[in-house]
Amino acid sequence: MDDIPHEDLEAGRLLFAKPCTFVMGCAKINQLPADTLPEIAFAGRSNVGKSSLINALTGQKALARTSNTPGRTQQINFFDLDRRLMIADLPGYGYARAPKAQVKEWTGLVETYLKGRASLRRIFVLVDARHGLKETDRAIFKMLDVAAQPYQVVLTKCDKVKPGPLDRLTEATAKELATHAAAHPDIVPTSSRKVDGIDVLRAVISTLALPAD
Ligand code: GDP
Repeated sequence: MDDIPHEDLEAGRLLFAKPCTFVMGCAKINQLPADTLPEIAFAGRSNVGKSSLINALTGQKALARTSNTPGRTQQINFFDLDRRLMIADLPGYGYARAPKAQVKEWTGLVETYLKGRASLRRIFVLVDARHGLKETDRAIFKMLDVAAQPYQVVLTKCDKVKPGPLDRLTEATAKELATHAAAHPDIVPTSSRKVDGIDVLRAVISTLALPAD
């Protein structure tokens, strides 16, 4: 990720200093909240660190909870950030032992959401820096390319990977993303545990929100 302008870092800090509130959880596509605000979504494999990242971004320890327990109803959770941005937390995918019916449920809800949500500005696809891209991530990229929905990869748990391997993973991932029409070329490395890269991601997200009053 290139250097972020100081103004964007400051805008990101200010935006995420505002309250972020839970709006609703949707298990059915006809229950979605109004799409009046610009919206971003977080997607990623189960256990990628999505809840931890959302909590680190908002500075709220228990805002997003792990919702990947197999068998639990899968839903999209919506959060409102200062009436300037809607944040959608998508159910995790790729759980190895997920029953077929659950995979179908995920696809039905999430694919329909991703294809039809006009207010979506960007989907952040989280990838565990220890594992890199998996086939299930590639399936999501394909779905997003087809839906013409812009997306950007965020690496999680970077504290678990040494700088050399992390550089190589970032390079290889960028190379692969370059072949995808809807993918943003910049990859954002983060660690929720060490609070690394969180300011950069806040800055990126702030460029997608409505401006401050
Ligand atoms: P989710 O299922 O994608 O919402 O993932 P969670 O946020 O619940 O995290 C899954 C596991 O990864 C938990 O055990 C977290 O403590 C761990 N984890 C999350 N973020 C980080 C991180 O930045 N660094 C490390 N080392 N572990 C993390």
